[in-house]
Amino acid sequence: MLALYGTGVSSGISIGKAYVIYRDDMDTPEYVLPRGLLDEEIGRFLRALDKTRTQLHDVKTHIPSSAPQETGSFIDTHLLILDDAMISSAPIGTIRNTQCNAEWALKQHADLLAAKFDQIKDPYIRSKKTDIRQVVDRIQRNLLGQPEEAHHDIPSGHIVVANDLTPADTVMLKHNRIRGFITNLGGPISHTSILARSLQIPAIVSVHNATRYIENGEEIIIDGKRGSVLIKPEQIVLSEYRKRRRLIKESHLELERLRQSRAVTQDKKPIKLQANIELPADVKGAIHSSASGIGLYRTEFLYMNRTDPPGEEEQFRAYVKVIKALNGKPVTIRTLDLGADKQVDGGHSDSVVPANPALGLRAVRLCLQSIDLFKPQLRAILRASAYGKVRIMIPMISCMDEVYRVMDLIEETKLELTRKKQKFNRRVAVGVMIEVPAAAIAADLFAPHLDFLSIGTNDLIQYTLAIDRVNDAVNYLYDPLHPSILRLIAMTIDAAKAAGIPVSMCGEMAGDIRYTRLLLGMGLDELSMHPATLLAVKKIVRNSDTGKLKRFAGKVLKTRDVHELHGLVDDYNEKLDKV
Ligand code: PEP
Ligand code: MG
Repeated sequence: MLALYGTGVSSGISIGKAYVIYRDDMDTPEYVLPRGLLDEEIGRFLRALDKTRTQLHDVKTHIPSSAPQETGSFIDTHLLILDDAMISSAPIGTIRNTQCNAEWALKQHADLLAAKFDQIKDPYIRSKKTDIRQVVDRIQRNLLGQPEEAHHDIPSGHIVVANDLTPADTVMLKHNRIRGFITNLGGPISHTSILARSLQIPAIVSVHNATRYIENGEEIIIDGKRGSVLIKPEQIVLSEYRKRRRLIKESHLELERLRQSRAVTQDKKPIKLQANIELPADVKGAIHSSASGIGLYRTEFLYMNRTDPPGEEEQFRAYVKVIKALNGKPVTIRTLDLGADKQVDGGHSDSVVPANPALGLRAVRLCLQSIDLFKPQLRAILRASAYGKVRIMIPMISCMDEVYRVMDLIEETKLELTRKKQKFNRRVAVGVMIEVPAAAIAADLFAPHLDFLSIGTNDLIQYTLAIDRVNDAVNYLYDPLHPSILRLIAMTIDAAKAAGIPVSMCGEMAGDIRYTRLLLGMGLDELSMHPATLLAVKKIVRNSDTGKLKRFAGKVLKTRDVHELHGLVDDYNEKLDKV
């Protein structure tokens, strides 16, 4: 038995066979062939093209019905690229003329084609370069006889092992019944880890060399809480983990009983526990968890794994579906937060993404620069607001000018809808995410102009502590209890209360039971999290007394030594968990 360790990002125990996805950058072989072997080499190239075509058709027939619409057109684009002369016939000429091998000939032409795309100004068309790269990788894999990188046919019950997974990959994995995943890279608040929690499957990231040590089909145990992976475990270990898995299941069943109970503290203070969702299909889990509304709808996931952005109508239908399912409960629709690790193309392209993407043209910055992308979304949200209680939430706000510009665009959109006699809620609430330190520090300047604030601790921690969310080398610095983070949260709560507007938290910290008592004590009464954690948080809420928690939080905020502060929080939790 071999043990590997990483960062557990979604708790639980899974036992199953490993399914290893190979996607390390391929080294393209280059060699010269004797003239007599050229026909055979061309035949090998043509067979690889045929195999690629068959695989793509096969992918198309396996698209799950719950996948975003137009996922099929993504495959059609790949089929068109495959038939492009630069890919399917130019390499044949190069094999004949230079006597090189098929892989090398293909690489030459693919690089030329990719370079042409680099010159294109339009960022959306430029991003299509990734599709070329994906098609070429597939042909190269077939030439080299490497296993297909396919997520659609992962046998159910397997544990996925990969170098890294992008949020777009994880959305596709959502449709497979996988039992968990392990990645060589990644951090606890990367969007991939967040999705793992929403899938309610154990996951461990930053398990260095996992794809090297774990072989396809090998039996493994993953413990998402401890961050450990056991390869080829002995019988005695297997039975111990089966027992632990049973106990976890029993405690989940116990929590299920709280579904009908209200989220009120012992001193009768109601706490709003809301759900974070990525796709309309997630709304079922949110309702099942007894969420009092949607506190964060990450709409950018509608834009992934496809070639064209969703149009106004498609977005409108998606939003209305969620709103209607919520049946009068509030739905906070966050406008597009694309960029950084959330690329429409899955983030596999290396040259399209600039250096420091998290500090670049992301979220509202991208929207304000690409009005053609933003306006259809605003129209769709506003139209959907006629069907229920909708709140519009703007991500990544760092200065008031951005707020004013978004407000102007919303007003302009309202006028257009009025002219077209389309229904919408004129008083739709507009709020912002407080996730950039600048916005937290100046929250008192923002709050009077807004209807609500929501603290996004994932980015707030990333930007305040200067740790890239997706860089496993700096995971160890991730600390929601860092005094700077606690102070920024306190400042935001104070600013919202002074302006008389609601404030919530929708970052991962809100769904981590380690922080529930502290956050309630700091005065938060709205928390939004993945449905999977909601009942555990509710259990703590129901056993809490806000007066006592306020005193506890006051003590924590005054503690100057960070180790002492951690100890204070953990000891307090341990004491109350026993009661
Ligand atoms: C956050 O940053 O805390 C947040 C909720 O947004 P996201 O994780 O989607 O960036
Ligand atoms: Mg964020």
